[in-house]
Amino acid sequence: MSVELNVLGTCGGYARQGRACSGYLIRCAGSNLLVDIGNGVLSNLQNFVNFFDVNAIALSHMHPDHYVDIFSLFTAIRFFPAVIEPVPVLAPLGAFDFIRPVLSPGAREAFLKVFRWIEWKESAAIENRESVLAGDEKQDQAVDLKITGMDMFVDKMVPGYADKSIQHVGPGPVILSSFDILPARMNHPLDTLGFRIEVEDKVIAYSGDSDVCDSLETLARGADLFICEATFTRQVKDKGGGHLFAAEAGKIASNAGVKKLLITHVWPLFDEEVAAAEAKKEFDGIVEVAREGMRIEI
Ligand SMILES: [Zn+2]
Repeated sequence: MSVELNVLGTCGGYARQGRACSGYLIRCAGSNLLVDIGNGVLSNLQNFVNFFDVNAIALSHMHPDHYVDIFSLFTAIRFFPAVIEPVPVLAPLGAFDFIRPVLSPGAREAFLKVFRWIEWKESAAIENRESVLAGDEKQDQAVDLKITGMDMFVDKMVPGYADKSIQHVGPGPVILSSFDILPARMNHPLDTLGFRIEVEDKVIAYSGDSDVCDSLETLARGADLFICEATFTRQVKDKGGGHLFAAEAGKIASNAGVKKLLITHVWPLFDEEVAAAEAKKEFDGIVEVAREGMRIEI
């Protein structure tokens, strides 16, 4: 059975003229998984499928260039004149804390009906949060505050406390629709997940945003397609932390033995062809630059 990638958005940070930020649609046998939904992605999605045909969403992290069109999709589904099954959204732990303040209480309730919100837990940050939820003094305090009706304050104190419908899963793989998704924590200033996605007999790895880290290489090992950020070219000397040089993306692809490298998330001030050339110096396999509208058979 064929697996197809539709590229919906590729720009790092903000969208170039006529382009969009991160978004990738993986399709197999009528199942559609949307990976990231940055600004401009909802429009481009509709070049391939109806927005109500998305079966599941995986969000790498809560920087605007990776998730803000979730609000547009929410509006589209909420006011669509037919019932649409809740769409599962897999996101890093604490992701809903970025959604909650933007919505009125009514819209928040509707949001959690339109989307089945699932947060993936792993790492030390979770232990902290679980200890908060484990029944110590802080939780008692939170319960008291809730009783007095100070819900906003409770939200602030104990993230996720007031949203009982948020599901926590992991560590380990998560199955959404036909897709077996293994998240892994990446190296980025904000909690960020990369994904190893298995569907039929194909493996697609996605870096999200990340600097060099072991888990990125592990995630990509032997993948049929590795969608990897390459935010910077050697046009800058010091890239700071949290992102890759295109050459580093090539090196990781080479170490991981992937079949094909799709470089993406190039910062709009840099030349994507230069990025591809730099990646090619480090990786003998196929290198392509992701562009909106591409269809790639995997
Ligand atoms: Zn980004």
